[in-house]
Amino acid sequence: MDFEYSARTRALRERLDAFMAEHVYPAERRYFEEVAADRWGPPPILEELKQRAKAAQLWNLFLPDSDHGAGLTNVEYAPLCEVMGRVHFSSQIFNCSAPDTGNIETLIRYGSKSQNARWLPKLLDGETRSAFAMTEPEVASSDATNIRSTIVRDGDDYVVNGHKWWISGVGDRNCELIIFLGVSNAEAPKHNRHSMILIPRNAPGVEVIRPLTVFGYDDAPHGHMEMVFDNVRVPAENMLLGEGRGFEIAQGRLGPGRIHHCMRLIGLAERCLELMCRRVKSRIAFGRPIGEQSVTLERIAEARILIDQARLLIMKAAWMMDTVGNKVARTEIAMIKVAAPNMACKVIDWAIQAHGAAGLSEDFILANYYAHARKLRFADGPDEVHRNQIGRLELAKYEAA
Ligand SMILES: Cc1cc2nc3c(=O)[nH]c(=O)nc-3n(C[C@H](O)[C@H](O)[C@H](O)COP(=O)(O)OP(=O)(O)OC[C@H]3O[C@@H](n4cnc5c(N)ncnc54)[C@H](O)[C@@H]3O)c2cc1C
Repeated sequence: MDFEYSARTRALRERLDAFMAEHVYPAERRYFEEVAADRWGPPPILEELKQRAKAAQLWNLFLPDSDHGAGLTNVEYAPLCEVMGRVHFSSQIFNCSAPDTGNIETLIRYGSKSQNARWLPKLLDGETRSAFAMTEPEVASSDATNIRSTIVRDGDDYVVNGHKWWISGVGDRNCELIIFLGVSNAEAPKHNRHSMILIPRNAPGVEVIRPLTVFGYDDAPHGHMEMVFDNVRVPAENMLLGEGRGFEIAQGRLGPGRIHHCMRLIGLAERCLELMCRRVKSRIAFGRPIGEQSVTLERIAEARILIDQARLLIMKAAWMMDTVGNKVARTEIAMIKVAAPNMACKVIDWAIQAHGAAGLSEDFILANYYAHARKLRFADGPDEVHRNQIGRLELAKYEAA
């Protein structure tokens, strides 16, 4: 990699690489075996590795501009996500995984003193996990103004009702907090109707209906759950920031999280390309290694081009977030949110093809990683919505003309 990283990033990356080599790659098989034995864990190996990461001070590396994190800029943190992304559960080892990172950032930015005192210490310590509940089966949720769950004031409480799905992280037994989006002021202007409220996972009326699957993977112990919130009563002080401010919070929440996902995808794609290269060098078909067939060479070259392009675009977006802020960087954030998952899907698909039928099996990580990359074309909004935004911002440049 020829990108000029800061001395601090280089030092952290070296330590992270060494930690992955010593502890994480050798534990991959054990992780999946433990998840198979106890679906909604968390697996003991994960807890063991978390303690090691904490001791090695590779902990809470996200959180730019905060006393709680390592104080890294987005440009400094992004390359570390790439290393973590090589093993898709590893970000949790360093307490840097979604949706906790986005939720922690939300609390730090918008939570009250008492909300933060209750929820933050355990989340920052990796003792508990959290979820973000927006999407609903009955409405097109890529347009968040459609969300129709309700949050109704009743004396000193709010009463929450709704049907949600694809709520990631609720499966984990350590999940204790759900940040919930719903309508609190139906008569208000479109972007002031919704609020976010904090709901304890164990509040009466919070029910999981079923885990959903992505191409058959339930992503245990994390999970993506269909849920019902049936007259869930929480104290009024659980309202985040204030009634009607849900969209304001959502805007602030998503930028950094998207960058983290995208950079992890770079690591994931790099690992799959590496597997592909190793495989095609050793398999012989029609008299020569598969790697020497021109179509394979072409795919390897194209994968290298796509990965490096995406990495540079992410670093540009991260640099803009650091220098001009998330709002001005919104085109770059949207561009990378489209580019990275599409790149990763393409590269992993080629890697699967190069492995023959084995690539589809669970003997290799490729099928699982393909499912992971594919879902990121929906999570945090589908490609089309981001493309629309990019297109509109491009056209806006010509408004005067
Ligand atoms: C694995 C996974 C995990 C997830 N985790 C969470 C979570 O933790 N919390 C949560 O709240 N949600 C989560 N989601 C849900 C995700 O955010 C939504 O799926 C996404 O916002 C799209 O909403 P929808 O599924 O309702 O699609 P719809 O809104 O019904 O859209 C369907 C399709 O319509 C097209 N479309 C939509 N808008 C436009 C447009 N403007 N122009 C052109 N075409 C358009 C797109 O192709 C889109 O895919 C997760 C999803 C997945 C797959």
